[in-house]
Amino acid sequence: MKEMLIILFILSLIVLLILSGWLVWQSVKRFIPIRNLEPMIKAAARQLSLSEDMVRDFYTDNPILKEAESHAGRKICFFRGYGAYANGKRVMLSTSFMYECLAFSTLREGNTYLYYTVMHECAHLKYDGRCRYRLMPTSKAKFYNWISEVRADFSAAEGQHERVANAILLVKRAASVNIPKRLIKDDHHHPSWVRRIQYLNEFNMFAPDLWKKIAHDCGYHITLDDIAKINATNSKGNLERSRRA
Ligand SMILES: [Zn+2]
Repeated sequence: MKEMLIILFILSLIVLLILSGWLVWQSVKRFIPIRNLEPMIKAAARQLSLSEDMVRDFYTDNPILKEAESHAGRKICFFRGYGAYANGKRVMLSTSFMYECLAFSTLREGNTYLYYTVMHECAHLKYDGRCRYRLMPTSKAKFYNWISEVRADFSAAEGQHERVANAILLVKRAASVNIPKRLIKDDHHHPSWVRRIQYLNEFNMFAPDLWKKIAHDCGYHITLDDIAKINATNSKGNLERSRRA
C-alpha cells in the first residue's frame, strides 16, 4: 500500500513537471522568432491547397508586409502560436495568424487584414505601452480596455477608415471558421467585431462623441476626468509621431 502511494506521488510529480514545462514553453515561444520558415510554409501550402511558392512569397517577399514594416518603423518576425503583438523592436506575427490571412479567398483580402493587424498592434505600443489590459472586473476597467482597442483601430486606419472597416469585415469570414464567439460577443478586453465595425463606420474621428458611445455600451458613466485622461494618452501617441517625423 505504501509503495503504491509512493508510485502515485512520483507519477503526479512527473505529470506536474510536464504540465508546468508545457505552460512555460507556451509563453516563451511567443518571444522566439522562427529562423527556418520552410516547415510552416510547406504545412500551410498543403493544408490550404496553395502552391509553396505562393505561400513563400506571402511570408518572405510580400510588398504589403514591407510597406507595413516601414510604416510601423519595426521589423516583422514570425513566431509559433496564436495572434499578433508588437514589442519595442519588432512586430511578431504568429504562424496561425498568417494561416488565417492565407485562408482568405483572395490574396488582396488576406493582405488587407495583415496590414490592418500590424498597424493595430503598433498603435497599442504607441499609445498603451506593453501592459495595457485592466483586469479589475469593473465597468470603468472595461471602458478603458475598449477605448484602447478602438483607438488602435482608428489609429490603424489613419484616415482610411474604409480600408480598415473592409479589413475587419473580412474577419467575419475567418470568424465563421476560427473565432465565431469574437464576432458577436463582447468581453472585458475587446468589443465584439460587430461593434468595432460599427464604431469605424459611424464615427469619423476618435473623439468624445465616440468615447461617450463606448462608455454607454460598457454601462459606464464617463466623466470630465476620463475625457482629460484619454486626451492626454492621445497626445502622447501624437507626440511620438511628430518626434519621429
Ligand atoms: Zn488590440
